[in-house]
Amino acid sequence: MSFKSLGLSEPILKAIAKKGYETPSPIQAKAIPPVLDSKDVLASAQTGTGKTAGFTLPLLHILSENQRHHRRQIRALILTPTRELAAQVYANVKEYSEFLDIRGAVIFGGVNQKPQVSKIRQGIDVLVATPGRLLDLESQGLLSLRHVEIFVLDEADRMLDMGFLRDIERVMKLIPAKRQNLMFSATFSKDIKKLAYSILHNPVQVEATPENTAVEVIEQKVYRVAKTKKTDLIIKLISEGDWQQVLVFTRTKHGANRLTKKMISSGITAAAIHGNKSQGARTKALAGFKSAKIRVLVATDIAARGLDIPLLPHVINFELPNISEDYVHRIGRTGRAGASGEALSLVSADETSYLRGIEKLIAQKIPVEIIEGFEPDPNASTEPIKPGQNRQRSPRRNSKHKGEGGGSNSRNSNRNRNRNRRRNNDNRN
Ligand code: ADP
Ligand code: MG
Repeated sequence: MSFKSLGLSEPILKAIAKKGYETPSPIQAKAIPPVLDSKDVLASAQTGTGKTAGFTLPLLHILSENQRHHRRQIRALILTPTRELAAQVYANVKEYSEFLDIRGAVIFGGVNQKPQVSKIRQGIDVLVATPGRLLDLESQGLLSLRHVEIFVLDEADRMLDMGFLRDIERVMKLIPAKRQNLMFSATFSKDIKKLAYSILHNPVQVEATPENTAVEVIEQKVYRVAKTKKTDLIIKLISEGDWQQVLVFTRTKHGANRLTKKMISSGITAAAIHGNKSQGARTKALAGFKSAKIRVLVATDIAARGLDIPLLPHVINFELPNISEDYVHRIGRTGRAGASGEALSLVSADETSYLRGIEKLIAQKIPVEIIEGFEPDPNASTEPIKPGQNRQRSPRRNSKHKGEGGGSNSRNSNRNRNRNRRRNNDNRN
């Protein structure tokens, strides 16, 4: 993923390069395309994840691409809760628009209004403002918001915390009804959703979950289970738990298809989503899942990566990923500040080394449970599966290894060497 592939214009790319950014952050990658598409967007991602550029870059692109009328009138309004934030956002606007014919200004309270007013008088395209000073200058007739095309509410959660709701509502009345609205927030509370509902029009909702802190709020569990019993166990968990929206991860596309079929034949609505599916099929599966027509979405890591799905109460690893980081990405789909989620992993003997790797990465021991009737196979090999190997063959291979647990030391160390080599390969893939 590059900034260029997001469709930003050359002068903006130049400014990004000058700033030293190499790749878009996750929230930028998710938010920029719908903003460029002139959609209303509700975006949430933790503080420090680059939300400012997430709206500023596409906003500048839009303004510079259609500069027909209302030149040097306030065409974009960015509201921020504090003067520090206003100043920061304005600094970004200036940097990113260095190679564009766009002018901006910033206004906030606590300082003399004169310099701010004279800057606005000279004609500006983008205004960054705190609500109080904005309303103040507007009521004095010193600025007009009648030509605003893009309205941004930055740090929306802090706005609410600071009691700006009424001011926001007053600002809304001063800008044209037909406009593009963007709302960015670090958290995603009920109140934020309510506010979004009142401001945004058919918004595209994007989220990027923090990758490390997420792990702490998510309840994790490992079910040790025989490989051959995994399908039955997952069906039991979903049915008995009466879970209605479950994201399941498999390591392979075939695995995803196979599991999806088995779920469907046992009466659980499910759809697979992976690289071999057409865009149309993926969109349909995703829409079905979001609208709760489909209970289970079975996905591979790569397919799930860019997926725009809201956070879920349950994520199940039908198989552990061979790359530990992918585990963190996967379970980041569940849980969020306040509402915690559950991430379950079905782990068979041959995934033991993957589990160790994951526990090392997250610096946590994941509690293990064994369910009666779904016990792990005591004779199964703990040797990891090679990536790309047909999973269906595994049980046969395992049975060949029966009794090897007590093999000679030299044989064991040989196996360990092989295992390490495989793991290294895994990590390169
Ligand atoms: P947020 O609004 O989510 O709190 P900011 O927009 O303030 O985050 O950005 C946080 C920091 O990350 C800033 O210093 C910013 O310059 C930097 N940053 C933003 N986008 C990128 C990127 N794509 N690559 C590298 N650094 C970035
Ligand atoms: Mg911010």
